[in-house]
Amino acid sequence: MVVLAYDAPRAAGSGAAAHASGSSSGCLRSDDSPLYYLDPSLAPSALATPADAPHVQPHARERVSYYFPKGVGEYHYGERHPMKPARLTLTNRLVLGYGLHQRMSCYTPRVATREELEWFHDSDYVEFLSQVTPTTPLSSSFTRFNFADDCPVFDGMYDFCRSYAGASLAGARKLTAGQTDIAINWSGGLHHAKKNEASGFCYVNDIVLAIMELLRYHPRVLYIDIDIHHGDGVQEAFYNSNRVLTVSFHKFGNDFFPCTGALSEIGTSLGKHFSLNVPLQDGIDDGSYVSLFKAVIEPCITSFRPESIVLQCGADSLGLDRLGCFNLSIAAHGECVRFVKSFGLPLLVLGGGGYTIRNVARCWAYETAVLTSCTVPDNLPETPYSDFFAPSHRLHEALQAGRVENQNTKASLEKIRVQCLEQLRYLHGAPSVQMQEIPPDLTGWLEEDRQARDSERAEEKAS
Ligand SMILES: [Zn+2]
Repeated sequence: MVVLAYDAPRAAGSGAAAHASGSSSGCLRSDDSPLYYLDPSLAPSALATPADAPHVQPHARERVSYYFPKGVGEYHYGERHPMKPARLTLTNRLVLGYGLHQRMSCYTPRVATREELEWFHDSDYVEFLSQVTPTTPLSSSFTRFNFADDCPVFDGMYDFCRSYAGASLAGARKLTAGQTDIAINWSGGLHHAKKNEASGFCYVNDIVLAIMELLRYHPRVLYIDIDIHHGDGVQEAFYNSNRVLTVSFHKFGNDFFPCTGALSEIGTSLGKHFSLNVPLQDGIDDGSYVSLFKAVIEPCITSFRPESIVLQCGADSLGLDRLGCFNLSIAAHGECVRFVKSFGLPLLVLGGGGYTIRNVARCWAYETAVLTSCTVPDNLPETPYSDFFAPSHRLHEALQAGRVENQNTKASLEKIRVQCLEQLRYLHGAPSVQMQEIPPDLTGWLEEDRQARDSERAEEKAS
């Protein structure tokens, strides 16, 4: 059994590093700009392209590691399925086109092993996942494991899952080894997958696996989810644990998938108060979202004092998403990423949802620039896929044009903020999550872990 909860006193003064950003802390009022830009046309010249400047202008030197599994963008869920792994290829091309790879260590990680998947998933579920093909006759197992329209069986599905999970695990290991400050895996972040069930286009929950890896060395891990859908699979996995604080910002109500994530879902047993939900309505705009995000996340970090953070950056919270109904701009989505980065804690950044794929690629390329502290021009670089970005060919495409009316009132958002802060007050005196040594239940993994690291290093050297 994995030790996911602790019940011992917490030492004062340990925990999260001081917030590095100073003036950017606290709540952002709509007149507080320019921490981000509501209208791309108002953005400063930093976004313009000086004719003779290089594409990338670095400002700082965080160590950033970037994981892109070989061939991960070439899988197909099916012609009419909204999840398009090709968005990962588009993202990667923009990242390379901007030259951001020069500011990161780039890795082609190994796939996750079956044993690694079974840290979280049931073995009979993994067995089915590994064996089933598009020609397998239907059986009761399809229903049992929830393989239907949302989660079809497609060619190479198991390899796809092992690829994105392997990348998240490699990123987590790099962080716990102290070899990087930030690890990025845009192919990960599949937050709906359950222990023994596929759900919402997700088959393997790479986030849970990565957090389990971080928990070997880090007493407390903060999970933040800005996908438009509730991060139900991650919340459920750690619902009884006081070592993982899960925080999800999502659309809630009117039967919006997955129909969980009410404010009242706060965790159980030792994990009571360690699940935080921020349920929102259609059409939330940049100013409201970013100010609420900062007002909630800063006290999460100062109260919970995580040793590392996992940030799921689902891009279906952007305006004009095929399945979404928020009005966020790429700049505002990226501002949430920049804010989390500003705390200077080991950070694993993952993808997630996102179904208008040209905007997913824009968003994650921009956030790669944010994470590498680079300023990139608003004109997109030339790539083999430039047609996708026509006619504007701009990074900061206007997405917040108000397709969806904002149904979040100031009063409703203030009520949510107050309730979240009220819940966070319980964390101050909460049963502790301090850990003096690696939990004994995990020590059996260490030799295996060491071997995995050695082979990973060998692969990195070879590549
Ligand atoms: Zn989503």
